[in-house]
Amino acid sequence: MASKTIINLPRVSRIFHPMASGLYDSEGKAEIAFKGYELLVNYGIIKPASTGMYALLPLGMRVLNKLINIVDKEMANLGAEKILLPALTSATLWRKTNRYDTSKTELFTVTDRHDREYLLSPTYEEAICGLMSSVGPVSSKLLPLRLYQISSKWRDEMKPRLDLLRSREFIMKDLYTFDACLDGAQHTYDLVCESYDNIFKQIGMNYAKVVGDVGTIGGLKSHEYHYVSDIGEDVILRCPACDFSINQIISKTTSCPECKGELRQYNSAEVGHMFLLSTKYSQPLKAVFAKQHEVKPMVMGCFGLGLSRILTLVVDMLSANDEIRWPVKLAPYTACIISPKIGSKEEGGSVYVEQLFKSLEKCGIDAILDDRTKLTIGKRMKLARVIGYPYVIVIGKTAMQSVPLFEVHDLNNDTYHEMSLEQISNYFNDVNLKIS
Ligand SMILES: [Zn+2]
Repeated sequence: MASKTIINLPRVSRIFHPMASGLYDSEGKAEIAFKGYELLVNYGIIKPASTGMYALLPLGMRVLNKLINIVDKEMANLGAEKILLPALTSATLWRKTNRYDTSKTELFTVTDRHDREYLLSPTYEEAICGLMSSVGPVSSKLLPLRLYQISSKWRDEMKPRLDLLRSREFIMKDLYTFDACLDGAQHTYDLVCESYDNIFKQIGMNYAKVVGDVGTIGGLKSHEYHYVSDIGEDVILRCPACDFSINQIISKTTSCPECKGELRQYNSAEVGHMFLLSTKYSQPLKAVFAKQHEVKPMVMGCFGLGLSRILTLVVDMLSANDEIRWPVKLAPYTACIISPKIGSKEEGGSVYVEQLFKSLEKCGIDAILDDRTKLTIGKRMKLARVIGYPYVIVIGKTAMQSVPLFEVHDLNNDTYHEMSLEQISNYFNDVNLKIS
């Protein structure tokens, strides 16, 4: 009673997710890595290519794309337009802002056949100003202008780690904003803060917005977004009463400036960083606008969001020791359907596979079928648990009753219910309302 083949159905048997056991460096020594990263590698979500560089495998790409969708929607609400700048930036531009020599030890540099120097960009303030300068002066009517990209960035870390927190190549969303005056740039800055709050609320994990260090990027003010985590390399000071938070680098005070409460110290990892740059880059690089007969440098802000860092940190924060857990919105597939074992008493239940898929699809839920029917349901349930699909639907014995019932497991909440097809539709409609 095998069900008719459903073309284009995502199937576990067809996914490329090579499993590893343990992490080893190029000399075969076991690497010490943190839990989330080890799970991502061992269960075939990502694969290290060399120190501080890694490949995202198909399931990892699905997670990244879900995160990108959340970010793209928030950027669209902000009126920001998506672009893609070249990976290589001319060293000449970085010399104009005096960042080439001061950052050189951390830059990957290349020279072309004509001896022109380039760098693999760790950040794009120079490149975007170069672009604006080449089209300028822009009309004041175009302002405020907000442009962002999502791409790989590179940094030749002194001590790269075999994980995604201090990697040499990382995936970042970087937004650059251009206003006519400082008040306008300040308003834009506040709007982007709201966008970031929306993004982090949708991901669903507790985060901290932290008064930040302007560091080597510079500018008038800065905020950082952090996940409180023992694997992070930053330390933040946080007020339990009013949530005021500040990076310890720029403050050793123990008293909250907002409410005088006592600040507490937490290890954390930075996942977002924003700067009100003013004209630090637009002035030397001549990114200017014209109003009537006057030409002035645009007032800028820049706003980074570390997507590969977010991916690895949420897994580390949510997962148990040997099972991945995802925020529901980021899971590679929201649901996994496990069909009956071939030759078992419940084999006839496989006729419901297509119906279950269609019901989930109608509810806006993406699902994958574990079609390895030579394996027991128990074995496949174990794999579904380690990959961490938030919902698992098992076609088991109760599917053979006159009114078929299916086991619906909610892994993130550790609950389990038996449901009819109709109840499954209602249940996943509610799930979709919660996650969309
Ligand atoms: Zn306070």
